[in-house]
Amino acid sequence: MESTCPVCKEEEEDREHYEYGCKEMEKLRRRIAERIGRENGQISREEWGLEVEGMETETAITIAKVRWIYHCVRCSIDNGKKKRMNIDLVIQKLDRRLTVLNTIDVEASKKKTAEASKKAAVQLQQ
Ligand SMILES: [Zn+2]
Repeated sequence: MESTCPVCKEEEEDREHYEYGCKEMEKLRRRIAERIGRENGQISREEWGLEVEGMETETAITIAKVRWIYHCVRCSIDNGKKKRMNIDLVIQKLDRRLTVLNTIDVEASKKKTAEASKKAAVQLQQ
């Protein structure tokens, strides 16, 4: 199945695009990088995938949560419930979720994100 990415509406959405490549996601990622104090404005692919050992808990929670929110926004656009991603709203949602910060959430968020990308991978391969 080849389909255009619902978020940027420009490129074909393959696994790589879904996981890291989308330029709309890149804009969001830069905002997150700023938030966590990255001077170069970058979050690596491994960090974004939460594959780095010994990551700071707060960074891991932030990435896990923002990826989950992104996933939900992507699905809403895909289902026609939203027209596009509003990055400010995503950040607001993230802020709200981080105020109820709970470290146990990291594993749950990680799991959710992993499941979501597995599902997406299956769909994208069909
Ligand atoms: Zn895209």
